[in-house]
Amino acid sequence: MSDKKELVEICHRVYEKGFVSAYDGNISVATPQNTFLITRSAVRKGEVTENDILEIDSSGNILNGRGKISTEFKIHLYAYSKRAEVNAVVHCHPIFATAFASLGEGLTGNYFPEVILTLGKVPLCKYATPSTDELPLSMEPYIDHAWGFLLQNHGAVTLGKTLKDAYNKMEKLEHTAQILLMTKLLGGANELPIDKVKELVKISKQNYGLDVDERNVF
Ligand SMILES: [Zn+2]
Repeated sequence: MSDKKELVEICHRVYEKGFVSAYDGNISVATPQNTFLITRSAVRKGEVTENDILEIDSSGNILNGRGKISTEFKIHLYAYSKRAEVNAVVHCHPIFATAFASLGEGLTGNYFPEVILTLGKVPLCKYATPSTDELPLSMEPYIDHAWGFLLQNHGAVTLGKTLKDAYNKMEKLEHTAQILLMTKLLGGANELPIDKVKELVKISKQNYGLDVDERNVF
């Protein structure tokens, strides 16, 4: 499948999952030519076609495609410039994750083994005005290692080695936020004891084939 086709599919999926409404969100993927494919602005993600995807360079200049570049392209280019292993970025406004972001709480507790292994801590990035240079800079304290970010009073960002990876991380992030909210309603969640978290990280390579970055766990 071409990158463009896959990008269109992921756009449709974030809309179907309710991670965005109306024109919300933007998604991008790096190409082998060191350029980036990104959704144009003002398009419903559920209705995106290949004609709504722009090819841009690392400075945000449009190389191919018609329409205005997504307002949050700076988040995407910032992530690519800071992390060589990142090849895709997904930005959405999922309801449960954005509720935590608006409360001013990151998803940083160690509650669920699979989340610890695949997503890690999701820090809260201080509120910054959308579309400005301030917004990517709000991610600076965590950009070296985190795969998921909550943007205060705004939404969420996930990074991935591939488009599917970035999408899966967004789905996992939102699912985690939803479970945590339910658990809070039931009286509060219990974090895993630290020795159990350490044990999980210790076996992650051998049992799951995962390289867990300890900065995302402890
Ligand atoms: Zn946004």
